[in-house]
Amino acid sequence: MDRYELIQPGFKKLVLPNAYLETLAEGFRWTEGPVWFGDRDELLFSDLPNNRVMRWSESGGLNVFRENSDFENGHTRDREGRLVSCSHRGRRIHRTELDGSITALVERYEGKRLNSPNDVVVKSDGTIWFSDPHYGIQTDYEGGKQEAELPANVYCFDPRDGSLIVVADDFQGPNGLCFSPDERRLYIVETGLQFATQPIQHIRVFDVRDDGQLANGRVFCTISPGNADGIRCDEEGHLWSSAGDGVHCLDPGGELLGKILVPSTVANFTFGGRNRSRLFLCATRSVYAIYTNVRGASRP
Ligand code: MG
Repeated sequence: MDRYELIQPGFKKLVLPNAYLETLAEGFRWTEGPVWFGDRDELLFSDLPNNRVMRWSESGGLNVFRENSDFENGHTRDREGRLVSCSHRGRRIHRTELDGSITALVERYEGKRLNSPNDVVVKSDGTIWFSDPHYGIQTDYEGGKQEAELPANVYCFDPRDGSLIVVADDFQGPNGLCFSPDERRLYIVETGLQFATQPIQHIRVFDVRDDGQLANGRVFCTISPGNADGIRCDEEGHLWSSAGDGVHCLDPGGELLGKILVPSTVANFTFGGRNRSRLFLCATRSVYAIYTNVRGASRP
């Protein structure tokens, strides 16, 4: 069990004593944005500074899914199974159609260009929720320096009518986001200002009102060592967070239950595999996987 850190007894039933961290692929520059395609039995993920999206499958191994990806970071799938992506360089959210063509979904808010969308989730009603911090346009490393035109907001886009609303406007660096399985809560990571000496870094939680607005925002937990970036819920309502030493598992009250220890900083991860119980971890220059004893929430 040395690859786990057990903090509360309840963590023991969420992991497997005979499952090990597997290295799936190595040698990237910085991995991000994993998304599982169960229908194709494959994982897509960003190799962000290399401006490409990679594809891995058990049977087909590793290959390039998309070169010149406009520095895509986070990915998810919509209710129709289409890939929805955050593009730093393109400063937009776009969707890959089933025929492979790409449709721009969101590029501007009130006439001003988005900053560099970082991470994205789709709610059961098809609305697309995403964070838009400044990180991707503050360096040439992850998309290219550009002027910001908007504050670092969190948005909800409704592709049915094209409406775009700000759902949170008091973050310095909104990052990963994730609904609870019942969608009554939305967790949003705050990673603060990129060049601050001591950036504000924690996970906040909001209640999702019936009208779709967020309410009652409060600090849920602080991740240490390192900080949260990507987050996911399992179907039992635990929140899993990336961290400097691996992946942390928290109960809905924000209490740390345990950790899966990983040799390098984890930026993002997703549940996948045949039963949605395998964690795929984008960790610095590598991609790892480990089977767990809990399934990811049906809508990541
Ligand atoms: Mg992120």
